[in-house]
Amino acid sequence: MTYDRLVCANCAAPVSEGRCPVCRANRARLQQEGFFAGMNPMALIALLAVLIAAVALLAHQTA
Ligand SMILES: [Zn+2]
Repeated sequence: MTYDRLVCANCAAPVSEGRCPVCRANRARLQQEGFFAGMNPMALIALLAVLIAAVALLAHQTA
């Protein structure tokens, strides 16, 4: 998702320029969302691997 052409409702300047606190807040939020969106699949796979290992360990101990 791109925010390059997003115009701020407060100062009417592009949000990417960060001219006012609203711009900067929106820019930070969008960057954070992008960061999490890019990281999520990897984190999900890592979490799944840990979960499978934990379940396998638990099953091994109880059996
Ligand atoms: Zn603004």
